[in-house]
Amino acid sequence: MSKIRFEALKETFNRKPVEIIPVKKRSEIFAENVFNLEKMHDFLDKNSYQSVLDAIKKGKKIERSVAETIAAGMKNWAISKGATHYTHWFQPLTGATAEKHDSFFELQPDGKVIEKFSGSQLVQQEPDASSFPNGGIRNTFEARGYTAWDPSSPAFIYGTTLCIPTVFISYTGEALDIKTPLLRSLNYLDEAATAVAKYFHRDVHKVIATLGWEQEYFLIDKALYQSRPDLIMTGRTLLGHPPARGQQLDDHYFGSIPERVMAFMRELEIESLKLGIPVKTRHNEVAPNQFELAPVFEEANLAVDHNSLLMDIMKKIARKHNFEVLLHEKPFEGVNGSGKHNNWSMMTDTGINLLSPGKTPMKNLEFLVYFINTIKAVNDNEELLRASIASAGNDHRLGANEAPPAIISIFIGEQLTRVLNELKNVSNGKLSPQEKTDLKLKVVGKIPEIMLDNTDRNRTSPFAFTGNRFEFRAVGSSANTGNPMTILNMIVGHQLKIFKTEVDELIEKGLKKDEAIFNVLREYIKQSAKVLFEGDGYSKEWEEEAKKRGLSNLKSTPEALKVYQKKEVKELFEKTGVLNSRELEAKYEVEMEQYVIKLTIEAGVLGDLTMNHIVPAAIKYQQELVNVIKGLKDIYDKDFKKYAEEPLYLLDKISAHISKVSELVRKLRKDINNLDNYDLDKKADLIVQKIKPQLLKIRKHTDALEMMIDDEIWPLTKYREMLFVR
Ligand code: ADP
Ligand code: MG
Repeated sequence: MSKIRFEALKETFNRKPVEIIPVKKRSEIFAENVFNLEKMHDFLDKNSYQSVLDAIKKGKKIERSVAETIAAGMKNWAISKGATHYTHWFQPLTGATAEKHDSFFELQPDGKVIEKFSGSQLVQQEPDASSFPNGGIRNTFEARGYTAWDPSSPAFIYGTTLCIPTVFISYTGEALDIKTPLLRSLNYLDEAATAVAKYFHRDVHKVIATLGWEQEYFLIDKALYQSRPDLIMTGRTLLGHPPARGQQLDDHYFGSIPERVMAFMRELEIESLKLGIPVKTRHNEVAPNQFELAPVFEEANLAVDHNSLLMDIMKKIARKHNFEVLLHEKPFEGVNGSGKHNNWSMMTDTGINLLSPGKTPMKNLEFLVYFINTIKAVNDNEELLRASIASAGNDHRLGANEAPPAIISIFIGEQLTRVLNELKNVSNGKLSPQEKTDLKLKVVGKIPEIMLDNTDRNRTSPFAFTGNRFEFRAVGSSANTGNPMTILNMIVGHQLKIFKTEVDELIEKGLKKDEAIFNVLREYIKQSAKVLFEGDGYSKEWEEEAKKRGLSNLKSTPEALKVYQKKEVKELFEKTGVLNSRELEAKYEVEMEQYVIKLTIEAGVLGDLTMNHIVPAAIKYQQELVNVIKGLKDIYDKDFKKYAEEPLYLLDKISAHISKVSELVRKLRKDINNLDNYDLDKKADLIVQKIKPQLLKIRKHTDALEMMIDDEIWPLTKYREMLFVR
């Protein structure tokens, strides 16, 4: 066994759970490290406090002079908690989080040290942004981008650093990050959804989107992780034969959680709670070593920040527990991948969940309005929703047999399907008194009763209604959920605006409000037939059926991202104000570039692993076999074949794999070098058509070699050694 593999395995045998200091009640530590309203109340004067409140609730601008006092208050709080540095925390287009640390303490010319943190450092800061991809927007003429505080997401302390959530924009005001379009989409949805809510309640002034994510991840021992260059470099195993005992036994889901993992989870929960992330559930997932964490839902912008923050801190905490977290969508072949379920709804400032049926026919009509408009929005923009979750990692998952397919469809359950079918038959124009009564009693009056029964039984749907929210399940585990949430808010907001116009037109023509609503909804239901699907989303038949229905099935990231280049898509982004065409082009370029970079790295790493680790081991074994065969020939002479059957067979096979795999790697390296001759789009296409299939072919040979070569000389830690936490 190679030294690295041996040492790594040995290290894991002596692991013990890391002790966690017991904490006080959860409620006592919750948001302990967050500069939330409660702390602002204590550390800010009345005027500044009100100013922040207005910024959060009404989106009002914070004046420069007020920013000074807010900064001073924030600094005092942070220093009282032991913070020494501050950073503007933001989410560049690559999806990761970025920070630039500055010290509170400044050395004066006279040698004295003072604490400094001014209003301008709070609201605006120039990071050295030249290294963040921005798709060509920020060229040399436009100087640098800057970060600016987003008061709707509170500052927090992590370690000894005060982190200030910020947007990242160019000096010309263009979005260079994920948060800016998210905030714009939330405003847009607010405007559209509030206008519609006024049909039902006069007192609604604001609608927020709510998001409750469920984060799946793998844990693997740190030493084993470090023994695998592919995991370190790409986040996934590029080769490795699946273990004999995979998830067939089905004993992992809801099984008992190993002690070491428990200790990690406990600390992660404590740290999350301190940061105001309201984590709640934890359990094992289907695959070995796979787990899930979910918080209580929050306002979407905050929830997106919290998810990004969580992905960041979970890595740090895992290392303390001698684990490495794998957020990749498909770290192990033949084992379930990881996703991030996004539970999404809309809520009024009066506390009404707009996607929840209620006790009165009126509430249910309101529910149907938002429910059906969401369905229509997804129906009309399924390609765009697919593009919002496109990434190199997620390509391994969408369409594999355990994840929703790359086809976007909606599951609503039997009872709601029946309701929609009834509504399809509503008469055109004015309704008779009898029809109105019938609708009231049989359709809208009955929803809460039937909903009790409408538990979600279809886990194969990428977009499912689950009682009082939609659950977007096709999102990848490593994704920044800001992307899909932006698109969802945007398309639903846009749809609600169209709805409002159409209903108002009918009212103008003399229909009653309810009649007008029923009339418009009826047409939407008819127009959305394509996207509604109750069957098995993983089946081959669905793929064929979806094709007939005209639904897209964009299997690779480049195909999906090209949706952003469609004329009507650009217009939608412009019209809603979420991204102008330059910003959208930048987003497209950065995401495409990410894809190309990731795949190029994978190809490079696979080439090296194959030629530097696998082939040398195979040659060593080949030599051993040759020696054995020669020895047998010496002893048995002409008869030797009778005794050398197995070594001869192995030698044949192994020699063939060695030459084949070496040839493939040579070709792969050439093809990768060749990519430099093409532009970004062409590169991406070539990767999909040529490079990716080559990676798979190479893996076939190396995985076959793994099955034949003496375990003693196999250089890489095997799946069975990595996948079961001790
Ligand atoms: P499951 O695994 O069955 O999908 P979980 O309980 O793990 O269920 O997750 C449900 C998620 O849905 C939680 O994060 C929860 O906060 C969230 N959720 C519940 N109601 C809403 C809502 N109105 N808006 C957004 N998310 C919601
Ligand atoms: Mg779920």
